Amino acid sequence: MLSSVRIAGRRTAQRVLSRASSSSSVVASASASTASESKYIIAAATTVAALGFTAYNNNVNNNTQNTTACDAASDVQEKFGTYWPRNIMILFGPPGAGKGTHGPKIEDLLGIPQLSTGDMLRAAVAAQTEVGKKAQAIMKAGGLVSDDIVVGIIRDRIKEPDCKFGFILDGFPRTLVQAKALDKMLAEEGACVTKVVELHVPDSVLEERICGRWIHKKSGRSYHVKYAPPKSMQLDKDGTPVAESMKDDETGEPLMQRPDDTATALVKRLASYHGETVPILDHYKPNGVVKQVNANQGMADVWKDVLGSLSR
Ligand code: AMP
Repeated sequence: MLSSVRIAGRRTAQRVLSRASSSSSVVASASASTASESKYIIAAATTVAALGFTAYNNNVNNNTQNTTACDAASDVQEKFGTYWPRNIMILFGPPGAGKGTHGPKIEDLLGIPQLSTGDMLRAAVAAQTEVGKKAQAIMKAGGLVSDDIVVGIIRDRIKEPDCKFGFILDGFPRTLVQAKALDKMLAEEGACVTKVVELHVPDSVLEERICGRWIHKKSGRSYHVKYAPPKSMQLDKDGTPVAESMKDDETGEPLMQRPDDTATALVKRLASYHGETVPILDHYKPNGVVKQVNANQGMADVWKDVLGSLSR
């Protein structure tokens, strides 16, 4: 009985999904205001349907299937967004641990967005907003931007519609003050952090990871001169990559190195990670939500362990 409910749920989910991908009206009917929001809504609809909580399509005939699928997506969005607790995850780890690599995969899996305070601050620096001007020098040196600024950024961001079902925090909280501010803002809606996934990597391997990292700014795609070089990479006679040859595999656009991805800035970044960020784990441990993953192994094995840490 249970398995037939699950199969029916999965079929319903497939229908919702296939209708959604073939018809933009579904996206509109689900009140999705952006492409990324619709991605999360459809993923959430699929998740709920696959769990067997919906039985929208049980009695439909061919003529009404399209409408029913639209209604199903819309209804599920409504119920999921109104009555279900939000899935609030912290992706935890030192710089270079793999948060930027595994975060997007968790996004796809859970259908909730990854919110990187580092990315938001870099965008503010690029746009030279007031926040960006204040943060620029601190970030370049590998220091921490003030708690007030980052807490304010997150407070506003998690009110956006795409965070309705939850979100993955990357690079936040970084101090106990930030963690307590986060708890307080979540408590206002009766919510709390539901999972902290710690990507654990010894400091000794981080310098090589960080100093060899090249990034495609627009997409966030990350390369490494030794472990994941772009196809275009050429080396000079000393074996150092020629900067002009570093191009994104997909677009051919130039790659860049972050100004704080230097051995000097890393010393400061790791000092603040151990001194100010790691104590956050003890803050959440009593809640039973902290899971440690060995992130010093092959990428496929890390991902397997991340999946294990996400399951109940
Ligand atoms: P990330 O991309 O997470 O490595 O962040 C890059 C830089 O942005 C950090 O080294 C800090 O200078 C700043 N930053 C990002 N998130 C925070 C945060 N939660 N608190 C303070 N500074 C932050």
